[in-house]
Formats: sequence, structure tokens, C-alpha cells
Amino acid sequence: MEKHILVVDDSPTIRSAVAFCLRNAGYEVTEAKDGKDALKKLESMKERQQSLALILTDINMPRMDGITFIENVKKSAFRFLPILVFTTESEKSMIEKGRAAGASGWLVKPFQPEQLLWAIKKLLWT
Ligand SMILES: [Mg+2]
Repeated sequence: MEKHILVVDDSPTIRSAVAFCLRNAGYEVTEAKDGKDALKKLESMKERQQSLALILTDINMPRMDGITFIENVKKSAFRFLPILVFTTESEKSMIEKGRAAGASGWLVKPFQPEQLLWAIKKLLWT
């Protein structure tokens, strides 16, 4: 079965580019446009008992940012999932904040598709 990934980013361009890259690599993808939308999608996955392998999330988003979203995931039924952050934020303090919230990995934009796929594979292996 295809591994299912939730992609959360407020930029439609980035979201569809990342989703395209992941689908090409054989993953099933669900897209969300911010933290709130993503929590709603997680809720409906739980209701439908749909499996999820990994969450990929941006940090800077309207309505609910990535850090708050991660904190919410860690309080949910999905708390054991690996969470990979992809963001323009490369500041150490922000990365520390992400780790403290529960992020498993950090990828700084812009990145090559191969870097993204490698980071995902690494998280899914462990
Ligand atoms: Mg953003």
C-alpha cells in the first residue's frame, strides 16, 4: 500500500509542487493550507480510520502556524507520527522551538526534490 503523507503549506504553488514530487515518488498525498485546515483533515482521517505515515509542514502560515500545529498533533492520536518541517526559517532559535514542539526533522527552503525525498525516507525508515 502507498504510504500516505499530509502536506501543510499556505502557498498553493509550493503545496502542489511538493505534492506532485511525492505522488511521482509513489506516495499518497493529502494537502492542507494551514494548521487549522490540517487538524480538520487529521480529524476526518481518524474518523475514516485512514492510515498516515508522515506529516510535512511549513512554519509561517495564517490562522495557525506550524509550531502551534505540531503542538496540537502531539496532543492527538497522531502524536507518534514523524513530522518534517520545511520552511524558509533557518534560525537556530526557530529550529529549537520546532524540536521542542516535537518536529522530527527540518528542511530549509528552497530545496531539491531529492533532498525532500531523502529526508522523508530517512524518517520513515526509523
Ligand atoms: Mg508559509
